[in-house]
Amino acid sequence: MNTLKNFPYQNILVLGLAKSGMSAAKLLHASGKHVTVNDLKANTDDPQVNQLKNIGVEVVIGSHPLQLLDGVELLVKNPGIPYHNPIVEEAEARGIPIITEVELASQLIGDSMIGITGSNGKTTTTTLIHEMLVHSQRKAKIAGNIGSVATEVASTMNPKETMVVELSSFQLLGIMSFRPKISVLLNVFEAHLDYHKTLENYKQAKANIFMNQIEDDYLVYNDDDETVKQLVKDAKAIKVPFSTTQKLTDGAWCDREYLYFKQEKIIALHDIALVGKHNLENILAAVSAALLDGATTEGIHHVLTTFTGVKHRLQFVQKVHERSFYNDSKATNVLATTKALAAFNQPTILLAGGLDRGNDFDDLIPFLSEVKAMVLFGETAQKLKITADKAGIDCVEFVDNVKHATQKAYELSEEGDVILLSPACASWDQYRTFEERGDMFVRAVHTLK
Ligand code: ADP
Repeated sequence: MNTLKNFPYQNILVLGLAKSGMSAAKLLHASGKHVTVNDLKANTDDPQVNQLKNIGVEVVIGSHPLQLLDGVELLVKNPGIPYHNPIVEEAEARGIPIITEVELASQLIGDSMIGITGSNGKTTTTTLIHEMLVHSQRKAKIAGNIGSVATEVASTMNPKETMVVELSSFQLLGIMSFRPKISVLLNVFEAHLDYHKTLENYKQAKANIFMNQIEDDYLVYNDDDETVKQLVKDAKAIKVPFSTTQKLTDGAWCDREYLYFKQEKIIALHDIALVGKHNLENILAAVSAALLDGATTEGIHHVLTTFTGVKHRLQFVQKVHERSFYNDSKATNVLATTKALAAFNQPTILLAGGLDRGNDFDDLIPFLSEVKAMVLFGETAQKLKITADKAGIDCVEFVDNVKHATQKAYELSEEGDVILLSPACASWDQYRTFEERGDMFVRAVHTLK
């Protein structure tokens, strides 16, 4: 296990005991530091709490007593805990540095990282880059939403390996010297303003990904996104743009037939298994980062011809009697569903509905032209029916869950149709997670005959 023996802080408070807090606490303890973990919600019989106590880590749960900060030199904060939490505010007032777990990972492995951020597309791009490296016989490990948290991965890496790590704006706020050899900035939309307060703060958090990069590093960025273009202006790293709209001499781009990196033809677009224009952007970013880290064209070709999507993200499930089923359960808002609908130009049956957050669904209307039927469930079913009526869709069915929606859609379908679960709503009215909802869909598809 790699440890942080030379890390200059001795007395450290870890705030928040999720996967990242657990991993950080174990690492710091193994590095000989004095560690206290503080969590508001965990309970005393939590196996994680006991595991930490057994190795000698002090664990305080149920409240955030400010005196825990006495003598503390560093705060490792769970990315989800907001900066206006009183103990975080107090730490700031006392001048205690506040980091997130990814900073510790970078302390362990230096710049052996490819970091990926953006408002959307992080998991897909991270997965693609990792797959491309692995299929090019490069040693790489994935960290983030898919895979383990960064410190856990970093503590088992050897010097020749690259960590491909997905980074949220929340994680990026808590860095000091974190510096990936290749950073990827996909896009910046308005998001998470409840946490960041202003769009400016959110943009700056995203820009932290390249803040410490130097002249030898690479910054892969979306040249079609004005906000991104502005942000990267003053970056020191070598800039490698990607674009779906223009020819580039210094990055990845495509015309109607092929995808290129600089002058080199990489793959014919019709050979790419992943659907959707937004995924083409993710692919361009991934191809750039993978090539810069030594991936081969063969490895990239293999991944792009076989990879059909990350689970629950416009993932191709299977064909049943010439109907193609796609699981996009991660589409928990209207924007995500518009992206999914835009990926198809054949007759589509849309399965949608879920938690009612008070919004309407009229932004879907321009994307519903190929939708011949809608099968609706959950709290928003009636609202979605209003949108279907406005879009002139006559065939609308109500069902009580995703399993029945799948069966109903199959009954309504014909050869050549796409059957798409892209709910445009969160799942929490009926399911614990979007994964549970998507799994129900996939299981239902597998039982169709
Ligand atoms: P993240 O990890 O950033 O949440 P994912 O790769 O999990 O992103 O994709 C989540 C959803 O975001 C997808 O189902 C799709 O609707 C949308 N999406 C993915 N990539 C992009 C992109 N490049 N631009 C816009 N939307 C995207």
